[in-house]
Amino acid sequence: VIPTQATPQVLYIIGEGRSGSTVLGMLLGQVEGIASVGELRFIWSRGLRDNQRCGCGSRFNDCSYWTGILRALEQTDRSPRGEDASRPIAIGSMRKFPYLFLSDRLFPGRARIRHTIALFDALYKVIGHDTGCTTILDSSKSVPFGYFLARYSRLDVRFLHMIRDSRAVAFSRQKHKLRPEIADRIEYMPTATAWRSSVKWVINNGFAPLVCHGRPYLRVLYEDFSRCPRDVLRCVFEFLDLPTTLCDTLIGDDNRARLHVLHSISGNPTRFTRGELEIKPDERWKIDMPAWKRRLVTALTWPLLNRYYQK
Ligand SMILES: [Zn+2]
Repeated sequence: VIPTQATPQVLYIIGEGRSGSTVLGMLLGQVEGIASVGELRFIWSRGLRDNQRCGCGSRFNDCSYWTGILRALEQTDRSPRGEDASRPIAIGSMRKFPYLFLSDRLFPGRARIRHTIALFDALYKVIGHDTGCTTILDSSKSVPFGYFLARYSRLDVRFLHMIRDSRAVAFSRQKHKLRPEIADRIEYMPTATAWRSSVKWVINNGFAPLVCHGRPYLRVLYEDFSRCPRDVLRCVFEFLDLPTTLCDTLIGDDNRARLHVLHSISGNPTRFTRGELEIKPDERWKIDMPAWKRRLVTALTWPLLNRYYQK
């Protein structure tokens, strides 16, 4: 039984993929008291069902961290069973976007969504209880899931919106990156056309600040983080009401950090990095991206790109 006083705060990273949230999550996960669990919305799909690799390198169902947490979750009355088990899988899907425009009265299946969010609340509490951490960092990024959390979670959920230049994101989406977490076959991270990447960027980054429903919200630019990670981390610690002095041990003057193993679900392949990691901006798109593509992405994302990047 989970004691009622075990109510951790949740730091939810919201926004678009390929924006540096994996590295930020890895750094924050080095701090005592922060459980950085990766993209938790995939725990029942990429974790339990597909048995992909955890950040520690083990297959999900062989990782004692996660099997312990799922066992503890089963002790609560929130554990998903039977037909219910498929619901939490779809919670972060882009198909849930129309829900954002519906009033409470017209909201189909609101009770089921509330139920799923209660399940995630229980999961966050179990993680807090099992690890002794007071902050759970969930890098799920999904805007609909963030919206449901802001609306229905009973926990202290805070939103960190991480944004990266739309052209860098589109460029990153065209590269074939191996997914080392798939253990039984060779699979690459999904690629997207410049057009599709731009539309997703506008939707996710446009809606992210709107769905937080009065919950605490902090905006971080990838470009600031990769140049001066310490300054950005200091802001994040302030945002979490944690001492900013934690930064000094986390990252050196040379922007290098030492990483220990994290038990994380899904995310960029960087999450398997061990030992030393240098934080530095990746601006290959400025040289290697064809000019027409860059112009196309700029045109498609312009008003929002301009709003987030004007100093
Ligand atoms: Zn693990």
